[in-house]
Amino acid sequence: MLPFKLIYSDNYCLPIGAHVFPAEKYQRIHDRLLETGIATADDFLTPTPASDGDILLVHTAEYVHKLKTGTLSPREEMQLEVPFSPQLVRAFWLAAGGSILAAQCALRDKIAINIGGGFHHAFADHGEGFCMINDVAVAIRVMQRDKKIVRAMTVDCDVHQGNGTAAIFGGAQAFADVLPSKSAGTAHLKSSADVFTISLHQQNNYPAYKPPSSIDVDLPDGIGDDAYLAWLDNALSSGLRQFSPDLICYIAGADPYKEDQLGGLALTVEGLKKRDELVFRVGRAKNIPVMVTYAGGYARRVEDTIAIHCNTVIAALESSR
Ligand SMILES: [Zn+2]
Repeated sequence: MLPFKLIYSDNYCLPIGAHVFPAEKYQRIHDRLLETGIATADDFLTPTPASDGDILLVHTAEYVHKLKTGTLSPREEMQLEVPFSPQLVRAFWLAAGGSILAAQCALRDKIAINIGGGFHHAFADHGEGFCMINDVAVAIRVMQRDKKIVRAMTVDCDVHQGNGTAAIFGGAQAFADVLPSKSAGTAHLKSSADVFTISLHQQNNYPAYKPPSSIDVDLPDGIGDDAYLAWLDNALSSGLRQFSPDLICYIAGADPYKEDQLGGLALTVEGLKKRDELVFRVGRAKNIPVMVTYAGGYARRVEDTIAIHCNTVIAALESSR
């Protein structure tokens, strides 16, 4: 039995048909973890959907109304890049519920993994890039509302910048200003000193406009394992020197992988596991709970995406021994 919980539901599967986003990956990860004996049925918890009140802590009432009544404009639906349906809305409410449960479990067990979520391209008032609801932002705001945490840090290692998360939390400007890098932002919608956002991503990739995170590491094309791990180590050290979170939300995208169809970095499967280990090791060393979401992963062979995501569970296990 694992010393932490895995959050999963068969209903995580996004009803989007044949799509570059492999919606069936969640179930395949679940099945693989059981088949290989990494996890047993007792290690999994089934989430319930987030409430509308939870979602409204992050998203605007107008946007939530459009989603619930199916009245997105054609342009808004196009921006989402997945076909709208009421079933899709339910899947995103459930993913947010899963991230809330993962945050609660992480505060108790030091680690928890949502076998889903990580929809970091969702903004307060619109969705884009396959992301309708920003589940991680919702989980953070719910934990704060319920007085479980005061401060949170997002560590976004998806190959694409966490634009929705950065915009929602406004890049914790007070902290970014003291960074000796060029990442201090200028155009903040609002400053939020209780959430510190870190994003490591490929510079030359979606989104074209990258709202400032507290720390943005804009990586050049083709970066491999060693350089990536050095940048991550640096960003974590810098972030944790300036900010003491009660919870780390790790967005463990599988798409920095060298065989990814939507990414241009060159990490190996082993390098991605080392990345996960680094985040868990830092959380453990600083005694900060880590909750994980899975975000993107578009490897040419879906099996590779499954392996990378399963390795995150193994890395968590190894780091807690
Ligand atoms: Zn991505």
